[in-house]
Amino acid sequence: MRIRANNPSPMALTGTNTYVIASADDTSAVLIDPGPEITEHRENFLAEVGDRRLSAIILTHQHADHSEMLGSVETWAPEVPVHAVLEKFSRLSPPVADGDRIAFGTDTADVMEVIATPGHTMDSISLIHDQVLYSGDTVLGEGTTIVTHPEGSLRDYLNSLDRLLQLLDEGAYSTIEPAHGPSIESPAQVLEYYRSHRLERIEQVAAALEQGATSATEVCDIVYHDVDPSVRGAAEQIVRAQLNYLGALAADDQG
Ligand SMILES: [Zn+2]
Repeated sequence: MRIRANNPSPMALTGTNTYVIASADDTSAVLIDPGPEITEHRENFLAEVGDRRLSAIILTHQHADHSEMLGSVETWAPEVPVHAVLEKFSRLSPPVADGDRIAFGTDTADVMEVIATPGHTMDSISLIHDQVLYSGDTVLGEGTTIVTHPEGSLRDYLNSLDRLLQLLDEGAYSTIEPAHGPSIESPAQVLEYYRSHRLERIEQVAAALEQGATSATEVCDIVYHDVDPSVRGAAEQIVRAQLNYLGALAADDQG
């Protein structure tokens, strides 16, 4: 069940999606990304949990539009473990890592498998359960995600896209439920587009440098000249991530 928070913005799209997934016997549930601290949103997702026992909360990454509600978790879910990569968000459970399996019911199928997908941020994870990939901000329901700088890394992000494509190939999942926007029913197409879009932008940034751009601001003026002013800050962040990526490439070449 998807519960959308009322925090629309150019970056959060229509708002943050919080997911409540019930166990096979429908007596317990797991919550993914409690979202922003908005009372109505909390009431909505707790209503969705209903009489089920909330057995786990999982955070896909550190950004406030996903994690802020954890600030008050003591009051709305005092005994529920919080599973996150970063220790500062983890609660009643050690930090999670790639390959961990988070059980949330008594059936063997009641498990969320953790897939480390760093890139958007270093602590980004995706989760697989019942042929569905919960992608956090690694893949979005509309447009493309940004690689934030310095929390993220473009090299890691491209590797994460490859990993998700491989898992798709292996039949590990068939649908993506993103943290923003609608469900993705054709993951292969979207993941391939993300990949080619990122590589195309990297080429454009390299070309801007060749034309003489010397700063992130100048590169942004050339490559992202047509973006809406409301997402200019985000564009500058990804330019920094791209410059970092290209710098790393040069270092590799010298090695
Ligand atoms: Zn994010």
